[in-house]
Amino acid sequence: MGRLEEDGIRCWLKDENTVTIDPILTNAVGGIKLMVESLEAERAAGILRVLINQDRAMHPCPNCASLNIEFVSTPRKASNWASVIIGFFVTSYAIPVDKVFHCFNCGHEYGGGENSDKDK
Ligand SMILES: [Zn+2]
Repeated sequence: MGRLEEDGIRCWLKDENTVTIDPILTNAVGGIKLMVESLEAERAAGILRVLINQDRAMHPCPNCASLNIEFVSTPRKASNWASVIIGFFVTSYAIPVDKVFHCFNCGHEYGGGENSDKDK
C-alpha cells in the first residue's frame, strides 16, 4: 500500500480492523482487501504484479527451481490473484498466518521465509 501511495494512487484497506483485532476472523471475512479507485485499478495491479514478481524471483522452488509459483496464505492450492495480494499485505502487517509458496510446476509447497534456501 505504501508503494502505491508513492505513485500517487489512493488506496485503503477494507476489513482491516476486523482482521487486526482477531486474526482468526481473517478467513471468515475473506482476508484484508486492498481497495483502489476503479480508474487506477489497472495501474495499481501492474505495480503489485511487479512487486510480487520480484518477491517470487527471490524464492524459486527448492525442488525444481521453477519460478512458476504463487504465494498463498494457507497451505492450500492458490486460487486467484486476491489470495496473492492478501498474502503480500498480510506479510507487511505481520499478522500470524501460515504462508507458503505453491509451485505449479511440481506441486511442491515451501515456506517463503527463513528456511527457503535450505534445500538448495
Ligand atoms: Zn517445483
